[in-house]
Amino acid sequence: MFEVRHAVQAYWRARRIRTRAQLIGRAGADLHDWLHRDVPQVPFYAGRKISDLSDLPIIDKATLMADFAAFNTAGITADMGWQAFAGSRQIGDLIVGASTGTSGNRGLFVISQAERFRWLGTILAKALPGFWRKRHRVAVLLPLNTPLYDSANRMQRLKLRFFDIGQPWEDDLANFQPTVIIAPPKALRLMAEQEMPLAPAHIFAGAEVLDPSDATLIATYFKRPVRQIYMATEGLLAVSCERGTLHLCEDTMHFELPQVGDDPDLRAVIVSDFSRSTQIMARYRMNDLIRLGPACDCGLPHQTVAEVVGRVDDCFMLAGKMITPDILRNAVVDTDRQITDFRIFQTGAAEITVLVPHGIDRDRVAQAVTQTLSARSVTAQVLVQNAELKPDMSRKLRRVENRWRRCEPIADTDRR
Ligand SMILES: [Zn+2]
Repeated sequence: MFEVRHAVQAYWRARRIRTRAQLIGRAGADLHDWLHRDVPQVPFYAGRKISDLSDLPIIDKATLMADFAAFNTAGITADMGWQAFAGSRQIGDLIVGASTGTSGNRGLFVISQAERFRWLGTILAKALPGFWRKRHRVAVLLPLNTPLYDSANRMQRLKLRFFDIGQPWEDDLANFQPTVIIAPPKALRLMAEQEMPLAPAHIFAGAEVLDPSDATLIATYFKRPVRQIYMATEGLLAVSCERGTLHLCEDTMHFELPQVGDDPDLRAVIVSDFSRSTQIMARYRMNDLIRLGPACDCGLPHQTVAEVVGRVDDCFMLAGKMITPDILRNAVVDTDRQITDFRIFQTGAAEITVLVPHGIDRDRVAQAVTQTLSARSVTAQVLVQNAELKPDMSRKLRRVENRWRRCEPIADTDRR
């Protein structure tokens, strides 16, 4: 079948790269071709003099959504896209998808059939080496079905089933007996807590940041490491290798990673996806912060990510200083081993509210957070409450959230 060929090609291509020099050479050539061949095909870039990537402006979701049609070759507007998404999720031969973010903040994307099969092939190559030789039953649990995932139904050795986590899915999942589960961490955690009779060979967390405490709980129950698929409407960003290390998908996407704050490993993410030509995503600034990791001994030459720290929006601004979500998270979790769930909100200019389960000593938590902040010369009122913490399956779980005001924007690396 024509489309399956794209998946197989992408699969072998992704497997072939062995050294950093090979990766950079190959990606550089692909990026160059894309800049000259595909980028000028959409109105936003038409007529621009482009010799290299730095000739393009850095854009963000607001730029893209303000004139969606200017970024795709089919002239699909945001209105057309949302309308299609509410119905067949197709416009002609093109597929329309959307992110699972909160309403008003959701992103839209348009891809071709060939692109969706290439995407699937790349995911399979990275997530399931040797999938070609084995029969897999893959269960995908997400709040929204996107046609991206339906692609696998058309591949012979792969049986793929989608489960809507907004509906009861527990019994159907047990009957399906997946060999591979891809689900948000909160759904994986629920499977472990309810001791569901499942025996997957591979477990992938996607769609939300994987908290280390969730990863431990899930891995302990299934006796398998939890790997991650880090993807968004912006594309496929990173997939964990068999050692569990997240590697950036530098073979299909170019990453600019400007440093944020004092930590040299803490980076903002600006992506240029040279594997897509229907919709152009060039120098697109994401809302995520990542922390770079050291080289991985699995042998993959792709840059590693120690963790996806969280959203730029969820950094706290206190006394003019930026506090990233992981700093407060660690302060809270390290207080007491019994803290397996929590919420931390910035609720005022100098106020933080922390929710911890019943039975946890509130004063100790408040003290730990206050100390962590004062070590950074920040003072804030820390309010700690005991609460019943339940995941809401209808929205993305954000344990650390700035409910006060947004983080200061990161200095633009675009010098023009
Ligand atoms: Zn690795």
